[in-house]
Amino acid sequence: MTPKKRALLIATLAELYPEPRSELDFQNEYQLLIAVMLSAQCTDKKVNQVTPNLFKAYPSFKVLSQAKLSEIEKIIRPINYYKTKSKNLIACAERVVEQFKSKVPDSHTDLTSLPGVGNKTANVILSEKGVIPAFPVDTHIFRLAHRLGLSKGKTPDLVEVDLRKAFPSVEWRNLHHRIIFHGRRVCGARNPQCAACELRSICPKIGVS
Ligand code: SF4
Repeated sequence: MTPKKRALLIATLAELYPEPRSELDFQNEYQLLIAVMLSAQCTDKKVNQVTPNLFKAYPSFKVLSQAKLSEIEKIIRPINYYKTKSKNLIACAERVVEQFKSKVPDSHTDLTSLPGVGNKTANVILSEKGVIPAFPVDTHIFRLAHRLGLSKGKTPDLVEVDLRKAFPSVEWRNLHHRIIFHGRRVCGARNPQCAACELRSICPKIGVS
C-alpha cells in the first residue's frame, strides 16, 4: 500500500471509529490482564459475560492465586479452552503475587514469563497501559492486513513486523482498535461487506469471499 493510501486508511478509520478502545470490560490492571487472557480464541462479548462473576468472587491476584481450580472452571466454563485457561489464571496469579508484588509487570519479557501470556497478550497489556507503543495482531488484524495489502506475513508475528514498519508508532494503539472494529462490523471473515465499505477505494482485495 502506498504512503498516500496508508494516510487515507488512517483518516478514514479515524472518522468511522472516533473512540478507539478495547471492547473488553475491565476497571483496573488486574482485570485487564485476566480479561485479555480469557479473550484468546474467544469473543470479547463472551468474556464480558463471565468476568463480572469472576471478578466479584476473585477481586485480586492474591485471592485468585488461592482459588480452587474447579471453582474457576465452573465460572469460566462458557469460554473456549476454559480448562487450560483456568489453570493458567491461577498459575499466573501465583506468579504475579510471588515475583511481581501483585502488580502487572511493565516489560514484555516479564509479561511473557507469566503462564498463559504470549506475545499478543503482552502487547495488548503494554499498549493498554500506555507503557510502550505496540501493535498486537489478533485474527481480525491478521485478516484485514492481508486483504488491505499491508502484509503477506504467514504468522501474526510477521504481520506485526510489517504493520510496525507501515505506520508511525503514535498510530499503533488506535489503529489496532480501529482495524478490529472494522473487522467485526464490516470486513468479516466470511462475509465482507465490500459494497458498503468505506475502504473500498484503497482495498486491493475488494470482493473477496
Ligand atoms: S473492501 Fe471488502 S475486503 Fe476490503 S476492507 Fe472493505 S470489506 Fe474488507
